[in-house]
Order: sequence, then C-alpha cells, then structure tokens
Amino acid sequence: MKSPWHRAFLALACWGAAAVAQAATPILVVHGGAGVIAREITPEREREVRAALALALQKGYAILKAGGASLDAVSVAIGTMEDSGAFNAGRGAVFNHDGRNELDAAIMDGATLRAGAVANVHTVKNPILLARAVLERSPHVMLVGEGAEIFARSVGMAPAEAKYFYSERRWQELQQALKEEREKDAASRNPPHHGTVGAVALDARGRLAAGTSTGGITNKRYGRVGDSPIIGAGTYADSRCAVSATGWGEYFIRATAARDICARMEYRGDTLAEAARAVVMDVIPRLGGDGGVIAIDDKGDIATPYDTQGMFRGWVDAGGNAHIAIFAQK
Ligand code: ASP
Repeated sequence: MKSPWHRAFLALACWGAAAVAQAATPILVVHGGAGVIAREITPEREREVRAALALALQKGYAILKAGGASLDAVSVAIGTMEDSGAFNAGRGAVFNHDGRNELDAAIMDGATLRAGAVANVHTVKNPILLARAVLERSPHVMLVGEGAEIFARSVGMAPAEAKYFYSERRWQELQQALKEEREKDAASRNPPHHGTVGAVALDARGRLAAGTSTGGITNKRYGRVGDSPIIGAGTYADSRCAVSATGWGEYFIRATAARDICARMEYRGDTLAEAARAVVMDVIPRLGGDGGVIAIDDKGDIATPYDTQGMFRGWVDAGGNAHIAIFAQK
C-alpha cells in the first residue's frame, strides 16, 4: 500500500515527464510537388515558386512560433499555396480529361488521429479548409463530389466559378497531354504529375500534423481520385511521424505509402530517414511509380526524399531559419 506522499510524488514525477515530453521546438516543412524537370523551369517560374513557398513557410511558421497548433500551421501553409496559383492545388489546379478541375485534399492531426478529407470537388477554392471542416464539423473522415460541395455550402464556403481555376498554363498542359495520348499507346504513358502541395508540422507542444492538396493528374479520367486525400496513402500523421506525399498517386495508394513510413518507425524501429527513403526510393519505384514525400518526426527530424529530378520544397529549421530547394543542391 503506497502512502499518500508516495502517490503525490509519483503523480508529480509523471506530470514532469509528460511536460518535458511535450515541449518541442516547432518545425514546418512544405512541398509544392515532385516531378519537377530542370529544363522546363524558366527563371520566372522558379521565382514564382520560391516566393510562394517562402510565403507559405512564413505564414505557417508564424502560427507555430506564437505557440499555435500544428494543425493550424498545416492548414494555413497549404491554404496559402492553394491561393497562390503557383501549384497544382486550389487556384492552380490541373484539368482533367474533360477540361474540368477536380480537387482533392486531406488533413490529419497526429495527436488525436482525427482526419478529414475531400475528393472530386469542383467549386471549392480551398479544399484543405473543407477537409479541415470535415475533420472538425462532421462525424465523417471523407466526403466526395456533390456531397462534399453541399457540405462546403453548409459550413459557409461560397462556390467559386470555373474561371477561378482557369490558367492558360494548365490548359496548355492538358492540350499537350491530349496530343500525346492520341499519338501514343495510352497504357504506356507516364502521366505528368507535379505541383501538388503539402505540409507537415511539429508544434511547441510536440503535436504533429500533415496535410496535402492537389488537382490530381493532368488529363485524369473524370472521377479519378489519387493518393493525396486517402489517409495512409498520401497523407498521414500519428504521435511520432507525419507525412505528405506527391507523385504518381496510384502507386502511393497501392503502397499505403504515408502510413508505411510511420509503421516502419513504429514496428521496425527505423529512423524517419530510413523509413521515408525505403518507401520512396525502393517500394514505389519497384511497383513502377515515382514521386517524393516530406516527413517529420516527434524529435523534429525531417526527411524529404524524392526519386524524380526535383521536388519543390521548403522548411523552417529548429533555429527558425527558412530554406527552399528544388533540386538536390538547392
Ligand atoms: N499525387 C497526386 C495525385 O496522384 C499528384 C501529384 O502529387 O502531383 O493525385
């Protein structure tokens, strides 16, 4: 039988350990998509992308620095990239085969394992905020198509017209993809995928979060859903690991890529770098796919492997310094 003093001491010791475990140095990592090809990037495009990544980091990190939640930092960083028009998400989304924009997004709170996702929405300016609303204001994890659009109206999101998502660059990409489709065997095509956005964050209380938002793949079939909004495939967070993926979504779904990275850490004791590298550089290519991830763990370690030429990415390190990179060197 323990004395009341002994019990009080134990309670205090546990509280102390929990308080220490919870304190963390905030970190934020964002991506603007893998599949970047060096010869396709003009200096203007590079400037546009770097500025958009820098703004997303700045806005998201301000939340973490003020003691805010990783879930808020992820929402704001991704919302900023959706609004920029610089990426394949929100305003800059690609066109499907029928010349429409169909957007997907997901967000997950690692501390509670709560998640929200939307797929196949056409009129929602910020799918990441709708995914967040599904997490917080519905009993569900995923809403798609018309149901998701109706839910968006019910939480006060005004519909955007099709022209909001129109950009000449994306339209020309579709025309090019349609031309290639006519010329080549459709089955042997490597669908162009780049520009999806994502964010992972660790807040001062040690809570992790992950989110991803995309227009999918240029010339995709009506109704196609990729990995980004699928919890465990393109987006996943738990108490020790958070991942946002970009790449050829069909392969990331088949590999349950994001969850596999966290599971390798949990069950095999892999480091974050080992787990992320194995999935991106081994599992996905062996299946025939490609792409990359941004990942972060509860210690604040980050990993950003990709097996395409480049991946738009940026991070704010433990010292509060922002970094942006596209290819291996910079
Ligand atoms: N993973 C996304 C999808 O398949 C595309 C991308 O990351 O660029 O929808």
